[in-house]
Amino acid sequence: MKIGFIGLGIMGKPMAKNLVKAGYDLVVLDLNKEAVSELTAMGAESGYTPADVAGKADVIVTMLPNSPHVKEVALGEGGLIESAAAGKVLIDMSSIAPKASQEVSSALAEKGMDMLDAPVSGGEPKAIDGTIAVMVGGKKAVFDKYYDVMDVMAGSVVYVGEIGAGNTAKLCNQVVVALNIAAVSEALVLAKKAGFSPDLVYQAIRGGLAGSTVMDAKAPMIMDRNFKPGFRIDLHIKDMANVLDTSRSVGAPLPLAAQAMEIMQAIKQDGAGVEDHSSIVKYYEKIANTTVTRQ
Ligand code: NAD
Repeated sequence: MKIGFIGLGIMGKPMAKNLVKAGYDLVVLDLNKEAVSELTAMGAESGYTPADVAGKADVIVTMLPNSPHVKEVALGEGGLIESAAAGKVLIDMSSIAPKASQEVSSALAEKGMDMLDAPVSGGEPKAIDGTIAVMVGGKKAVFDKYYDVMDVMAGSVVYVGEIGAGNTAKLCNQVVVALNIAAVSEALVLAKKAGFSPDLVYQAIRGGLAGSTVMDAKAPMIMDRNFKPGFRIDLHIKDMANVLDTSRSVGAPLPLAAQAMEIMQAIKQDGAGVEDHSSIVKYYEKIANTTVTRQ
């Protein structure tokens, strides 16, 4: 089985490397030639266009920023669709709007090609370790057939439902993560303004009900003033736009998600768009006139 891999960014590059290390034959493509060189140095072949990649591969994995990028790579000029054929499959692991997954899937289906929407959670460290969580939509038989490919990159791979279900699960994930970072930020600012050590408060509460994966990942970054991404505010704003779009279309009011979106928009205007989403704390620091440190 030959795998095409398009999108070798923060997440895609280590995911593609894990496939090569597992013994799969890869043909890769990215606008960033340095990332492509890293993969070809490991034995992967380099493709010229998405159509070229799809012509050479049986399975094409995409890991791109957002819906327009996936639509362009799949359906645009020189896109995957030009080499689409029955028996080939697109596994789109990007986080995009569920509606966009459904549109791309329908267009590919006309050429007999299957698609799974399989976005991920866990960030760069888990992409490197091969322990990301993958949430998948599409036909169950296609999921079963390609489970092993996704499993190489993942700690868990869960089938959620028909096409669009994976990205719907990912939007739910992004709501929980954004609100959790905001809650951790409020707690650390409260500790600091009350005159106590945010680090000791963190140590005191992390083993109780308030503890979370988000708290353990982000509280140390905040206290050490390390806002290197990780997951950029700009990308989280992209996800929250998809959250609010989807929530309106299905009639699910999300008052706190809407507020988290406005907080992220505010700190983006302050220049934090390219920083890690833990910089949500900067909004709270500004309105409380403080800076969260360990002491
Ligand atoms: P990134 O910006 O680092 O990588 C995207 C890559 O796609 C870049 O290398 C870019 O050059 C390439 N690209 C864009 N358009 C292209 C095109 N037309 N042809 C070929 N290559 C193209 O982004 P990332 O952080 O790797 O995220 C990718 C996806 O995964 C996003 O949807 C993001 O929301 C999601 N995600 C990211 C994280 C994270 O922590 N970074 C975690 C989970 C999910």
